[in-house]
Amino acid sequence: MNNEPKTLQQAIQYFSDSDNCLNYLVAHRPEWKDGVVCPTCGSKDISFLASRRLWQCKTRHPKAQFSVKVGTIMEDSALGLDKWLVAIWMQTNCKNGVSSWEIHRSLGITQKCAWHMLHRIRLALQDPKATKVGGQIEVDETFIGGKARNMHVSKRRKRITGRGASGKTVVLGMLQRGGKVRTAVIDERDKDTLQGFVRENVRRGSKVYTDELLSYYGLDSDFAHRIINHAEEYVRGQVHTNGMENFWSLLKRGLGGTYVSVEPFHLFRYIDEQAFRYNNRKEMSDSDRFSLAVSQIAGKRLTYAEVTGKVGETAF
Ligand SMILES: [Zn+2]
Repeated sequence: MNNEPKTLQQAIQYFSDSDNCLNYLVAHRPEWKDGVVCPTCGSKDISFLASRRLWQCKTRHPKAQFSVKVGTIMEDSALGLDKWLVAIWMQTNCKNGVSSWEIHRSLGITQKCAWHMLHRIRLALQDPKATKVGGQIEVDETFIGGKARNMHVSKRRKRITGRGASGKTVVLGMLQRGGKVRTAVIDERDKDTLQGFVRENVRRGSKVYTDELLSYYGLDSDFAHRIINHAEEYVRGQVHTNGMENFWSLLKRGLGGTYVSVEPFHLFRYIDEQAFRYNNRKEMSDSDRFSLAVSQIAGKRLTYAEVTGKVGETAF
């Protein structure tokens, strides 16, 4: 497609046309690269009902009529494709993220709708690749949240009992130098958790750089483990975790500014979102980043109950 939008303004204009939305989504769905297939049974024997912008699968089964939303994060959403695509554009390209209040005001939908929509988009932004990486790896942990004095009393009590005395959540991250960041929200900084994460994500024999936390001791049985003692110095040649620290500061800037309060339960989704932007920041245009996100929306579902933990409520 050669007239694809390059800026937010062009995206708003382009996606105000329903056919442009449909054609864009069809063209960027990886499992449809050789033509549309039924998301339920995988059959190619389908017909397009142009007036309703629906496909009809010739095989008899439930959901034989399907829209472009079926099988994606947009399934069961009544919101128009124009709103979805502009929201995806904003969320993937605004450097510090975009809040549900901003989406609510910009797109004229309720804040509750916008909140749910953004959570579904975050699901699409999760890094789909889970293969082990090698080379030079920085591993580091950080604490997020816990400004207990700014919290309402009932919330403070809940959070403090749930997360130990500090009320903070621990996030573990690794950066392959020249590559990507991966993160996990963890309960404890114990040896099993920290070393388990490294062994799951990093190829044996790689160089692993950490701080002096005791839980990392023992990694040298499988890795070239180098420790930087932050009480003494921050950089010793190649040995530092500055790349990870840079990611943490970006993340905290986003969380502090754009997302006023994030429950620990939802934190991992915000981190996935920040990691997506961080991992795809170089040599990519806004338009590339957007099309990458769109190519990841299929095969993922997130119901309102799953997001909120409330069963039997629907947002939109
Ligand atoms: Zn079918």
